[in-house]
Amino acid sequence: MKQSYDVIVIGAGIIGVGAGLKLQQEGKQVLLLDSKGVAAETSAGNAGAFAFADVIPLATPGIMRKAPTWLLDPLGPLSIRPAYGLKILPWMLHFWRASWKDRYAAALKAQADLMALSKAALERQIEGVNGEHLIRREGQLQLYEGAAEFQAAMASWEVRKAHGVQFEFLDSPEAIAKIQPGIDPRFTHAGYTPEWKNVVDPKTWTEHLANAFIALGGNIANQKVTAITPQEGHVSVESDTTVLRSKHVVIATGAWSKSLSADLGDSVPLDTERGYNTTLPAGAFELKTHVTFSNHGFVVTKAGEGIRIGGAVELGGLHLAPNYKRADLLLKKAKDFLPELNIENGTPWMGFRPSMPDSLPVISFAKNSQQVLYAFGHGHLGLTQSAGTAELIADMIQGRDPDIPTQPYRAQRF
Ligand SMILES: Cc1cc2nc3c(=O)[nH]c(=O)nc-3n(C[C@H](O)[C@H](O)[C@H](O)COP(=O)(O)OP(=O)(O)OC[C@H]3O[C@@H](n4cnc5c(N)ncnc54)[C@H](O)[C@@H]3O)c2cc1C
Repeated sequence: MKQSYDVIVIGAGIIGVGAGLKLQQEGKQVLLLDSKGVAAETSAGNAGAFAFADVIPLATPGIMRKAPTWLLDPLGPLSIRPAYGLKILPWMLHFWRASWKDRYAAALKAQADLMALSKAALERQIEGVNGEHLIRREGQLQLYEGAAEFQAAMASWEVRKAHGVQFEFLDSPEAIAKIQPGIDPRFTHAGYTPEWKNVVDPKTWTEHLANAFIALGGNIANQKVTAITPQEGHVSVESDTTVLRSKHVVIATGAWSKSLSADLGDSVPLDTERGYNTTLPAGAFELKTHVTFSNHGFVVTKAGEGIRIGGAVELGGLHLAPNYKRADLLLKKAKDFLPELNIENGTPWMGFRPSMPDSLPVISFAKNSQQVLYAFGHGHLGLTQSAGTAELIADMIQGRDPDIPTQPYRAQRF
């Protein structure tokens, strides 16, 4: 391994691998460092969706009135682990502020911009890595129990329409069954987004990008980075085994990015929304499309040959043990909603969404150095926004004007 690089990217999840690949494609000599390997954390087990239709930030006006009802159920779609209750308060305060009407409107615009860029960038990325065989273009069904629930969601569909999302409404169990048979008839209404896509498997996809990166001459090493020090003309990167130097450094360490950015002078309100799922073996259900039970906070999707059922948000930080009862509960609900689902022999998983309170990622230079960049905090949308993030990071390093304004993603915006 060389001691000196054009760019060292720290973190080999989908964000770091995507950025590293883009820079290597542009002729930079890139080293990817990860303490655990490629797609070893959140990017391994997510729902695999390119959710370009989900332009609406989580902190919507009025959400703070609804949240207490969700929190009453400790196994509901949103929960706070009691041991983490005080620690999450500053994040919640920022979240509340982000739900103010003017801030929400600005965040929606920034989210929609990044979605539009990422959607186009993904097609460029798929072509660049010959990856079409790893993409499923099978649409998404978003289901509602009864006309009242459907009507309550209408405003969100209007927002999607205004941002160019294509959809059609289905208003009977029979119409829904034509797209996805086997759903309990209590789900009477749905929004169907035909352009929705998924990866065949998120880990396989990230590995495919990493292999393309290596084929272009990129390097990957298993090392835990402990210090990043900008110096005159280069940045020094210290790990558990060595000290390396690079012209630029990109911090893409997902939910673990807070302390590395704090060392560089940026106090970023990053926390984690832990999510759970269970992957069932092949044959568990004949799934035709990605299914979202939005009011229950979970999805049913294909993962490799199997079926993955997951979602939920648990505010519990990085260190508390997983509570897999949450994954079991989602599985039982899924069985209730899809009676033919076989829930035997599943593998539970928990992942750490790297979440900012305004739902926007940090794609930014560090406060004290134009040689250090951040690419983290993508929350529920890291896979979705990875190709767009990669293009923005490459623009910033190459000194090009990016296609969209990057000011809303600055680390210093809070
Ligand atoms: C249940 C669930 C479902 C989801 N579904 C979707 C979905 O369908 N679509 C979507 O777009 N998003 C989804 N997400 C969100 C998505 O998974 C994340 O946004 C994304 O994986 C974040 O990628 P990342 O590269 O930033 O972080 P990670 O994948 O977590 O990678 C960070 C890497 O940094 C490494 N690291 C940390 N510290 C150091 C250090 N000091 N030195 C070296 N390496 C370090 C870690 O080992 C890790 O490999 C889901 C998340 C969950 C939990």
